[in-house]
Parts: sequence; C-alpha cells; structure tokens
Amino acid sequence: MRHKYSTAEDCKCGGWTGRCAVCDFGLAICNTCKGAEAAMPADCPGRPMTEEERELVARGELEFTMGVWFLDGHPVFKDGKVFR
Ligand SMILES: [Zn+2]
Ligand SMILES: [Zn+2]
Repeated sequence: MRHKYSTAEDCKCGGWTGRCAVCDFGLAICNTCKGAEAAMPADCPGRPMTEEERELVARGELEFTMGVWFLDGHPVFKDGKVFR
C-alpha cells in the first residue's frame, strides 16, 4: 500500500500560516498511517501507527514493507500490531 500524503489542499490545519509543517515546509505526512519524514515506513501499513511504532520507525528499528512489519530485520506481526 502506498502512503497517502497530505498536501496543503487537504491539510487539517485550515490554512493558518506560519506554523504548519505541511503547508509551509512541504513536510511529507501520510494521512493513513500518520507517518512523517524519517518516521515513515517504506510501505503504508494502512492504519495509523501507534506512538511506539512511530518511534521505532523514526529510530530505524522498525520497517513496514510488503505487508509485513520488520523489527530489527525480523518479521513481527500479531493482530495487525507490532509486538515484542
Ligand atoms: Zn497545514
Ligand atoms: Zn502511510
């Protein structure tokens, strides 16, 4: 699944200028998984990531690709959520 990136047109900030990373800086944020910049897996998991997942992705320890989560290079998947 591909990420569905937010754009200035569909940004939820309402166009208030000066403080919005999406509108003002073109930050890539996925509407589906809420990933952004470094905290964005290769493929979109198709649901909002949990705080823990997003943190792990940002640290480069977690990756989602071909429908599977990989934690430190090992596939981890349980009830659609990452576990360890
Ligand atoms: Zn915005
Ligand atoms: Zn996504």
